[in-house]
Amino acid sequence: MSESKIRVLVVEDDSQIRRFLRAGLAAQGYELREAETGQQALADAAIAPPELVILDLGLPDIDGVEVVRRLREWSVVPILVLSARARESDKIAALDAGADDYLTKPFGMGELLARMRVALRHRSALGEGASSVFTCANLQVDLSARRVTRDGADIHLTPIEYRLLGVLIRHADKVVTHRQLLREVWGLAYVERSHYLRVHMAALRQKLEPDPVRRDSC
Ligand code: CA
Repeated sequence: MSESKIRVLVVEDDSQIRRFLRAGLAAQGYELREAETGQQALADAAIAPPELVILDLGLPDIDGVEVVRRLREWSVVPILVLSARARESDKIAALDAGADDYLTKPFGMGELLARMRVALRHRSALGEGASSVFTCANLQVDLSARRVTRDGADIHLTPIEYRLLGVLIRHADKVVTHRQLLREVWGLAYVERSHYLRVHMAALRQKLEPDPVRRDSC
């Protein structure tokens, strides 16, 4: 589905590298967001939670390793560091802070794309278990293919509804608070906006439940 592209946040102060990444990633169908500073990156990640972060370490305000640390306080998003720092100690610091992978500049677009695929694969395997297909009565949700069907017929979900459903499925065996849902779907800045949740949850229910009176328990 074109409306549910994978959202990638690129944190890089070098405009040439950003341009290079923009061209390479857009061609692969990723939705790109860009931040030039660490502060901007943290704010953007909270407003529009990305599914993958590509992070430079040498940023004009806060160090990239600190950005990793702060993101990890609330997010499990895969973080791929892309840095000119080639020392082992730099790699260890970034990985220990919570980065998933480390690629040194200069880099090849092919290798970057391959590592992005690995990071996304690992994350979905972690979050969704061995199978990414969730079945409930006649409803089927394929998280990796981003497809929802009932009796084989596609159900169209907006990107927000899809994210919401993904979080609900991933936490299917636990109690999820409203704040947690708001944080995971919309971002840290939205944890108080419970009306967002009410509106989108109602829309999602309506799409997924053929008969709102009869509730299937899954
Ligand atoms: Ca830099």
